[in-house]
Amino acid sequence: MTKKVAVLPGDGVGKEVTKGAIDVLNAIGQRFNHQFEFSYGLIGGAAIDTEGVPLPESTVAVCKEADAVLLGAVGGPKWDAVPTQLRPERGLLAIRKELDLYANLRPVTYYDSLADSSPLKKEYIQDVDFIIVRELTGGLYFGKPSERRTNGSEEVVVDTLYYKREEIERIIRQAFETAKVRRQKVTSVDKANVLESSRLWREIAEEVSKDYPEIELEHMLVDSAAMQLIRNPKHFDVVVTENMFGDILSDEASMLAGSLGMLPSASLTLNGPSLYEPVHGSAPDIAGQNKANPIAAILSAAMMLRHSFGLEEEAKAVEQAVEHVLNAGHRTADLANGSHYLSTEKMVEAIVDTIA
Ligand code: ATP
Ligand code: MG
Repeated sequence: MTKKVAVLPGDGVGKEVTKGAIDVLNAIGQRFNHQFEFSYGLIGGAAIDTEGVPLPESTVAVCKEADAVLLGAVGGPKWDAVPTQLRPERGLLAIRKELDLYANLRPVTYYDSLADSSPLKKEYIQDVDFIIVRELTGGLYFGKPSERRTNGSEEVVVDTLYYKREEIERIIRQAFETAKVRRQKVTSVDKANVLESSRLWREIAEEVSKDYPEIELEHMLVDSAAMQLIRNPKHFDVVVTENMFGDILSDEASMLAGSLGMLPSASLTLNGPSLYEPVHGSAPDIAGQNKANPIAAILSAAMMLRHSFGLEEEAKAVEQAVEHVLNAGHRTADLANGSHYLSTEKMVEAIVDTIA
């Protein structure tokens, strides 16, 4: 099959790791006889530098013409002084809105050969395999008002946690659909003892669960979920939660996999192209040094094959190649203890050679 992929490398290591993901897609294309056509767009700091805005119209157009979008990362100290509305991160929020990317899927997978890279004991993390389904278009990130003002002599700040019923319903449905092809269990995370939005969230989770009688639903308060993720991560299969809770829990969960450099993500829409990106940021401390771990970006490309193109066998081939090189002892700097490690390019090469 022929598929169009829009590539937004962004900033910092984003450029290095997306290059690796493209090499891997090309290797898959060769082996399984598919054609991937790549087009490119600017986002984040790279776009601010040349176009003056973090998400130019031309980039949105490139994405909308594609079958899927591959993104690197945005941001870096170079743009620290830029006003809030024009910051690189705004480019990311804007593309999520433009493409209506409502569901962010973040799988957390255990790799036996990386057990030593996690700060947690092997007995706790062995065989951990869950996925966080984070709502991406609502909540505190977009609620209005969000402002700072003075009330007489008092300085006041307001952020608004805003959700429409249908936004909650579609993310919960996505979680149940995800659980269907996994271990049939959904943990819905909220703060229903405090927040009105969480009470509606719980109600809707119960309603939707009636359509999935074979799937177990449990509710968990977010503070308790934060603890359980470390205490007993094997408890989880599919975790569904609102935007900000999902942001926090998924960074916490990244430590179960050993390194931020291992974690892929998919941001799905119901119509049009979905977007795939590593969970990590632009990593300015190691940018340009050919040192970043490309695996998160490569596994994001695997998610693209699976979710956007329906190419399950091809997705598995990528995931198996990653596992194979790790088992063979190949490490990038973030995973190695000591001075012996592979560059970004050499790691990509090892994975490409395994696929070929
Ligand atoms: P963001 O705000 O964009 O999420 P962040 O502040 O969470 O970014 P990252 O850019 O993700 O920060 O970097 C956090 C740490 O993880 C840094 O020390 C960085 O070098 C490291 N890191 C991130 N991605 C990788 C990678 N692909 N390979 C190796 N190390 C990485
Ligand atoms: Mg972060």
